Amino acid sequence: MCYSIPGRVVSIDGRTIIIDYFGEQRRAVNEISNLKVGDYIYAQGGYVIDAVPDAEAQEVLALWKELFFELQERDQHLSGFKRMDKRAGDRLSLILERIVADEEEVAEEELLYLLNLEGKEDIARLMQAANYLRHKHLGNSCCIHGIIEFSNYCRQSCGYCGISARNKGLKPYRMTPEEVVKAACEAIDKYGFKALVLQSGEDSAYSIDNLCQIVSGIREREPALIFVSCGEVGLPGLQRLYEAGARGLLMRFETSNSRLYEQLHPGRRLDSRLEHLRAAFDMGYLLITGGLIGLPGQTREDILGDISLTKSLQAEMYSFGPFIPHPGTPLANSHSPAAAEVLKALAVARIVDARNAKIVVTTSFETLEKDARRQGLSAGANSVMISLTPDALRREYPLYPDRAHLNESLENQISDLLEILSDLGRAPTDIGVSHTAS
Ligand code: SAH
Repeated sequence: MCYSIPGRVVSIDGRTIIIDYFGEQRRAVNEISNLKVGDYIYAQGGYVIDAVPDAEAQEVLALWKELFFELQERDQHLSGFKRMDKRAGDRLSLILERIVADEEEVAEEELLYLLNLEGKEDIARLMQAANYLRHKHLGNSCCIHGIIEFSNYCRQSCGYCGISARNKGLKPYRMTPEEVVKAACEAIDKYGFKALVLQSGEDSAYSIDNLCQIVSGIREREPALIFVSCGEVGLPGLQRLYEAGARGLLMRFETSNSRLYEQLHPGRRLDSRLEHLRAAFDMGYLLITGGLIGLPGQTREDILGDISLTKSLQAEMYSFGPFIPHPGTPLANSHSPAAAEVLKALAVARIVDARNAKIVVTTSFETLEKDARRQGLSAGANSVMISLTPDALRREYPLYPDRAHLNESLENQISDLLEILSDLGRAPTDIGVSHTAS
């Protein structure tokens, strides 16, 4: 299985290097000390994660060469933006024409208009414009992150969350640090994952030392970009995890509406969450963040605020998924949003951060809508996650009920995903942001 295209180093300037992939130049941060121009590397999320011996690189490149251009052509064909002469002059056409032409910034009031679209055909046109922008600025690469959910204990009582301390119906589990390291190394070594998220509830049974032991245990054995996602571990904790080798933080702020945040998170403040995200960014972490769509009491203005906040946090990846009510929570009788609400949010996120954003199709969206991956990837998204939590534990991590892929083996999940990506002309690899992008 090969998820990554080796790139050739064409220049080195301190920690910044430029890499060539079949003629496309990308930028990355390098932390490998003896790297030289001409060497081959694997990069992920804009980080060099491993040097690749020449012979191995040539072999992988030979496998990719034809496929790479074939996929690119398919994506080019599927992501065209068709101008609608018949309706030219209507407000939607005028806004979308400006968006695809990358003309001046789209006003907030126009973005809200897009989030408020209701007609199926109009929403399809919005998605098409977003997909066009994704292709234009970021090409056909689609990054695949694996996620290991290593403990379902949580001391917090988030009103929507199925693993909250309030949900007494859970069968609790904790993986030992050794088990997490083993699962991660297998995912990297056997299945070719290059980016992993380590997630848990806020579980005080793992000290920062334990978490560092997991991160460094993986980094010492295998090359990978490691994201931590264990809630608010404190700023010194974040610093120590960075030193242990973590380079990413997955932490949603959940909602940018502080009143709604406080209602849903008793005794907690949005500012504290944001302080973690901002401090992590300053430490050098890549951020995956975002919010829930369709929370009771949330407005479309709030969702636009969430997207703007994600951009202002300089997130590497936007993570927006639908709220799905869990029976063991105070929001049991609320409703999920329609799939169209999620698609509009993904498309607007792409428009707001056209040139840089990775936007993930979340598992919660896949739970809400069977065809979420195809639809989301056709609405501006360019990333997916696969759960690598051992089968026996995966069903004990019910953030929301009836989670997608629960009964699928990892092999099937991977092959289904690769088929979808191939149909859409996407390369299952993350070659980073273009050298020329701003
Ligand atoms: N302890 C970590 C991980 C939290 S759980 C942290 O604090 O970041 C991971 C994510 O699941 C949450 O950020 C939340 O956005 C999402 N989630 C929880 N309950 C959900 C529900 N009912 N529907 C959809 N997503 C949910």
